[in-house]
Amino acid sequence: NLTIQKIAAGEVIERPASIVKELIENSLDANSSNIVVEINNGGKSYIRVTDDGDGITDDDLDLAFERHSTSKLSTIDDIYNIISLGFRGEALASISNVSKVQVMTKTKDSLGGIHAVIEEGKVVSKDTVGCPKGTTMIVKDLFYNLPVRKKFLKSDLVEFNHVSDIVYKLALGNYNTSFKLIKDNKVILKTSNNNSLITNIYTILGKDIAKNLISISFEKDDFKLNGYISNNNLYRSNRSHQYLYINNRYINNNIITDAIERQYKSIIPINRFPVFTLFIEMNPGNLDVNIHPTKQEVKFVNQEEVINIISSTIRDSLNPSLV
Ligand code: ADP
Ligand code: MG
Repeated sequence: NLTIQKIAAGEVIERPASIVKELIENSLDANSSNIVVEINNGGKSYIRVTDDGDGITDDDLDLAFERHSTSKLSTIDDIYNIISLGFRGEALASISNVSKVQVMTKTKDSLGGIHAVIEEGKVVSKDTVGCPKGTTMIVKDLFYNLPVRKKFLKSDLVEFNHVSDIVYKLALGNYNTSFKLIKDNKVILKTSNNNSLITNIYTILGKDIAKNLISISFEKDDFKLNGYISNNNLYRSNRSHQYLYINNRYINNNIITDAIERQYKSIIPINRFPVFTLFIEMNPGNLDVNIHPTKQEVKFVNQEEVINIISSTIRDSLNPSLV
């Protein structure tokens, strides 16, 4: 039933930035080293994401746009051990129900590539094309079939700001993948895939921030914490540039953010906010990422322990720097 599909789609796809997020996460899941995001009109009329990842086989292509079809879980138990960014098999189905989608893809082993057109969640045409290994998704005319939703989209600039926000977050967290963001034919951001977080911070957040950071690291058993937090010299009067990643996934978690802030403010004398880029790696079995469809929220099995580790590591890293 198409109506039900459209309602369901609305929960995942709110605006162009939601599409960009899902497409980039698929590219990351497919082991891409280079990802290019191109958008026109804030992504409302045109989004193209090109990667050099694994590609999609001919057989899988028909399934990829069906709801709840994912190649990323083999058993239901896998849901408790998720390491890939996607697992619900919902994104492409949702996107292709609210916009016009075309895909070009080629795997390492196939001789030619495939070009397919998808309408209302169904592959309506497929032909062979020459293309490099990887996948290109083109998404046009968001909400062309849902005029009311379309009316609620904001100006090109506002929608672009949402897109760049998500691209910056994903680019910052994935410093072994290069990202390029192109807006109306103009390059806005270009990062390299040189495996250095601090280089990435320099490129994305700028020199002023990069030169005023203290590195943080902690490791015990299967729990790892590392990244950077701002030192005494960086003045911030708001919460901008606070980035937290858990098992390579960008996460919103007020409990952790508050704990970091409390610790920071107890050491840095004046009332200001920390800038941070922190990565937690932990046993996915101690984490529930399944509580929200867009997967930016998590629950910890042992929340208090996690908070304690973060607080004490930040305290130990910041204190010596002030001596
Ligand atoms: P999920 O990511 O939750 O599995 P999606 O709807 O986002 O669901 O994608 C469906 C499937 O399409 C994926 O499981 C994957 O097999 C395939 N796929 C989508 N995008 C890409 C890509 N860029 N490269 C390779 N495979 C992809
Ligand atoms: Mg996905």
